[in-house]
Amino acid sequence: MADLAEHEERAIRDYVNGQAPPDDQAGLVQRVRGQRILGRTHDVFDVHCAKTRWWVITDPMNLYLQTDFPEAEQALIFHIGLGAFLAERSRAELPVEDEDHVTAPWRRYRDALDVMNEAGEAEDFQSVGIKCRDALIALGKLYQSADWIGELPESPKVADFKGWGAIYAERLAKDRVRNYVKALVEKTWDLTVALQHNSNATPYDADLVLEATGHLISTLGRLVRRHTDGEPERCPRCESYRIDEDVEHDDERQGFDVSMVCAACGWRSEREFTSWSEHFEGTQLLEYLAGPGTGISDRLHRGESEEMPRASD
Ligand SMILES: [Zn+2]
Repeated sequence: MADLAEHEERAIRDYVNGQAPPDDQAGLVQRVRGQRILGRTHDVFDVHCAKTRWWVITDPMNLYLQTDFPEAEQALIFHIGLGAFLAERSRAELPVEDEDHVTAPWRRYRDALDVMNEAGEAEDFQSVGIKCRDALIALGKLYQSADWIGELPESPKVADFKGWGAIYAERLAKDRVRNYVKALVEKTWDLTVALQHNSNATPYDADLVLEATGHLISTLGRLVRRHTDGEPERCPRCESYRIDEDVEHDDERQGFDVSMVCAACGWRSEREFTSWSEHFEGTQLLEYLAGPGTGISDRLHRGESEEMPRASD
């Protein structure tokens, strides 16, 4: 595992100290593991405070008491589950039209999985083909009005998945990846249609089509995300991807400096200073600080925190 750079260690320590009482500040910070899960890297840090010991897990950053989670892995699993739970809850708050737009292919794909779970006869496996075909049509409809489509000499029909899939491949990928996605679009569609018409369909046939359909949906989703997020930033000196924004407090000048820093070679961009008064202009900071703690970690030990007087008491 790569060494912990000074600014990385400081970011973790500042985060913990921001949440801990003055007599329980952070000392030793060690990175114990890093794991990429569903496209996000979560680093786990072991933080020794004066009286307590914590796991801090990143992206998004949160902390867990080691008396609650003796093993780092337990905390990581809880962290990921919590993230999925919060994402699901915020998804449920989307307006119905938006939700429909974002999840239509996945919802139809889930229908296909449900059919598969109950399937026993050839016609059930054929139905899996129909559901997968529906999922692909929904996928084909998903980006028809995206701005990256640009001008088209002639638009395919709305439900023409092969036609739209080929356009998506053209717009989102180059060279071999483009050819690969075009072939996936073509061959996956053919598989779903063949399954639909196969009166001797077996569980193996249906499983293969399910896998192929799920793979195509996630492949296109990944290409769209890459297009909208852009390429990941790299260090201008050594080309490492370990570039972070670093925030350094400046008590003397009553504010903070922000710069980009490379954890691999130590390169740093010019520091930009912002004063606290500028930063908190128009926010409700004082009201927030005076309110009861309602964050996730505030809630974990509600019963034990009596010695810490609450602002609302
Ligand atoms: Zn560098």
